[in-house]
Amino acid sequence: MIPEFVYFDLDNTLLDHTTAEEEAHKEIYQAYPELQKVSVNEWLQTYTEINRVLWLQYQKGEVDRHELHRSRFSDTMAQLGIRNGHSEEIGANYMQIYRKHWHWIDGAKEALEKVAEKYPVGFITNGFQETQRKKIEMLGLEQYSDIFIISEEIGVMKPHSKVFDLATDESGTERSQILYVGDSYSSDIIGGKNAGWKTAWYTAFMDEIKEEQTADFLFDQFPRLVDYLS
Ligand SMILES: [Mg+2]
Repeated sequence: MIPEFVYFDLDNTLLDHTTAEEEAHKEIYQAYPELQKVSVNEWLQTYTEINRVLWLQYQKGEVDRHELHRSRFSDTMAQLGIRNGHSEEIGANYMQIYRKHWHWIDGAKEALEKVAEKYPVGFITNGFQETQRKKIEMLGLEQYSDIFIISEEIGVMKPHSKVFDLATDESGTERSQILYVGDSYSSDIIGGKNAGWKTAWYTAFMDEIKEEQTADFLFDQFPRLVDYLS
């Protein structure tokens, strides 16, 4: 595949969000004895589900950023029968600890370097401006591109066509010549396909892949992406 432009997703494509989230929850769980009424797994599973639903509501504009940040901890505690007087403090500490655990996905940095030597690149991410800008800084992504599309800054999230239309304009290339590399089938692959882009799906976080879920290229190890683009 010889594209003219390559866009990358950020969370769970370049940055290992899932591990950072898990590590932060383990630290929070240890620091607040009231959480230890339930097992750490029960805590994580309940939080994950509540956070997932809140993100869907945020995507539809039903809750704002502040409500999302507040509710994901207080609702988890309420559901588990834990008194939630410390939920705001826990939420704020969580964000601090989460940031401490940001690391590249295995092989992603080397792959990005190689791809960026050959092609112009850019980055598209769903998330909050402040957090995502910090991630960009931490990973040093400004050295590869000055094109960063952050959902909170434009008011809609992937897979909304507006995100991909804007990214197409920014790339200065034809839709069919753009490759999008991402981990989320519903946000990245569907969004990219609908925009007329090519898609490379990073599947390492997938438990199972359904037959109808396809992309132009699937990979679970970054050297394979480099080979694909060589
Ligand atoms: Mg992602």
